[in-house]
Amino acid sequence: MHTPTASQLLQVWERGAERSAAASCLWLLGISCDECQPEVLAKLPLGQRDRLLLRLRAQLFGTQMQTVAWCPQCQAMVEAAFDCGDLLAVQEISEAMPLLELASDDRSSVVRFRLPDSTDLLALEGCKDALQAREMLLKRCVVEIESRPSGNGQGTPFPIELQAQIALAMAAADPQADVQLAFTCPDCSHRWEPMFDIAHFLWQELHAWALRTLRDVDLLARVYHWSEADILALSPRRRQAYLEQCVS
Ligand SMILES: [Zn+2]
Repeated sequence: MHTPTASQLLQVWERGAERSAAASCLWLLGISCDECQPEVLAKLPLGQRDRLLLRLRAQLFGTQMQTVAWCPQCQAMVEAAFDCGDLLAVQEISEAMPLLELASDDRSSVVRFRLPDSTDLLALEGCKDALQAREMLLKRCVVEIESRPSGNGQGTPFPIELQAQIALAMAAADPQADVQLAFTCPDCSHRWEPMFDIAHFLWQELHAWALRTLRDVDLLARVYHWSEADILALSPRRRQAYLEQCVS
């Protein structure tokens, strides 16, 4: 994996205004991972995608991550710092992940399914209803339903209980896709564990970085009359040195 150039990052950011964080991060991985074709990246289980995004985040902005959250109990703002390495799940799933299997409680059917990937996230983007989205996701991920002759085999193919069990089995099989942060409120000592979405987090960081970079380009272009391409081609250190000249 190589680090994208400032110019490539700005292109991703610019086009990202019309895309979701999941779509933009997939594109970002596409220009960073020489070893993987875009269609292979899109089909990686989300935990593997997130592992790559954490690596890329460390390359772009360092390993330390700062985030804020609001205490659900007293609404105080809580700041927390994490290391990319702390967010890596111990268990790394293999590239050729076998299908998962789950039997319904009455043993009337066996469901075989794969783990969700980026193509699923993109397909579900328009769906605002969480329950409907879960059902759509299952329809996409379930590869086979084997009904036993002894079972009644009636009713909906994905009863709510089975949907919940499949979701749990997916999370257990791909823990990297289900990372939770640990927060403790300094005011009321309440503890909670919100989900951490590296795609969303990295996209927000990239947005802030792009605005800062364009502001720097604007200043340097005004003072030195260089082109945007020339300014972006400067190393961050050299660019910073020129910026300091401008304000001194
Ligand atoms: Zn609190």
